[in-house]
Amino acid sequence: MMIDVALLGTGGTLPLPGRFLSSLLIRHSGVMTLIDCGEGTQVSLRELGWGIKDIGTILITHFHADHISGLPGLLLTIGNSGRTANEPLTMVGPRGLQRVVEHLRVIAPHLPYQIIFREMTGRGDEQLELNHGLRLKVQMGDHDIACLAYRFELDRAPQFQPERAKALEIPLQFWKSLQRGEPVIVGEKTFQPEQVLGPPRVGLSMAFVTDTRPTEKLAQFIEDVDLFICEASYGDPEDRVKAIENKHMTFGEAAMLASAGRAKQLWLTHFSPALPFPDRYRKEAAVIFPTVVLGEKHLNTTLKFIDA
Ligand SMILES: [Zn+2]
Ligand SMILES: [Zn+2]
Repeated sequence: MMIDVALLGTGGTLPLPGRFLSSLLIRHSGVMTLIDCGEGTQVSLRELGWGIKDIGTILITHFHADHISGLPGLLLTIGNSGRTANEPLTMVGPRGLQRVVEHLRVIAPHLPYQIIFREMTGRGDEQLELNHGLRLKVQMGDHDIACLAYRFELDRAPQFQPERAKALEIPLQFWKSLQRGEPVIVGEKTFQPEQVLGPPRVGLSMAFVTDTRPTEKLAQFIEDVDLFICEASYGDPEDRVKAIENKHMTFGEAAMLASAGRAKQLWLTHFSPALPFPDRYRKEAAVIFPTVVLGEKHLNTTLKFIDA
C-alpha cells in the first residue's frame, strides 16, 4: 500500500509560460484524486502521463478562478477518454460546489458519466473514504472566501503473528479472516483478531493547504503528516503585509506552520506571478524548516509504509 503524489503546477493567480497553476494529483490503488483544476491543469496532467480516465475524485479547495476555471475542459476530456455511465465522478468542495459546477457546465453540458457532489462545511469533523481505505479529512482555512484544507490518511493493519495462531491451534483456513480483523468461531471457541495481531502500526498521512493565512486550527489539522504541501505566495518577508491583506502566506509563515504541525516533509507551491525565481527565497523557509522543498512542475514522490 502506497500513495503516489505529483504536483501538476505551482502558480497562483494566473498560469505563466513554464508555470502551470497550483494543483496536485494523488494515486492510490490505481485510482486518482485531483486537487484543484485551474486553467491549463489538463495540459500538465497529460504531460505527467498517469492517465486521465481514472480520476475518481476531484477536490476543489475554493471557488477562485485559479483553482477551478480549468474544470469544464477537464470534465469533457475525462468524458472523451472512454469513461462510461457506470463510472461516476465524485466532486468534493465547499458549500455551493454543485451550483458553481453546474454554472461552469453551461459550456460542458453533455458528459457520459454522472457527477456526485459532496459539499463540506469545513467544521473539522467531516470525513470521507475516497477509495481503498484512503480517508479524506477537511478543515476550513482563513481566506477571503470559504477555502478548504485537505488531509489524507491511510491506516496500516497490525501485523498477523502466525506463531500465536499456531499456539492457539487455530486452523489455517481461519487465518485470513482474523488478519482482516474479523473474529472467527472454531468449534466451540471464538477467537478475536487481537489474539493473533501485533500492536497498532503507524499509517500514512499527507495534507494540502492552500490560499489561507496560517491558523492554529490548521497547525492541528496537519499534525504529524508525512508530507505537507503548503501555499507560499510571497518570498520576501517584507511582503507579509500583502500576505495578510490578501489572505495568503509568506515562505517563512508556511515553514512556521509546517513546523508547528510537526510535518515530516514540506513542499511549497502557489507562488505569486510576481515571484519569477522562488528559489531566491528558499532560505526564508529553510531557517525554520531546513529540509523544505520548493515545488516545481511534476515534482513527485511515493509515500510508503515504513517498517519500524
Ligand atoms: Zn489561488
Ligand atoms: Zn484564492
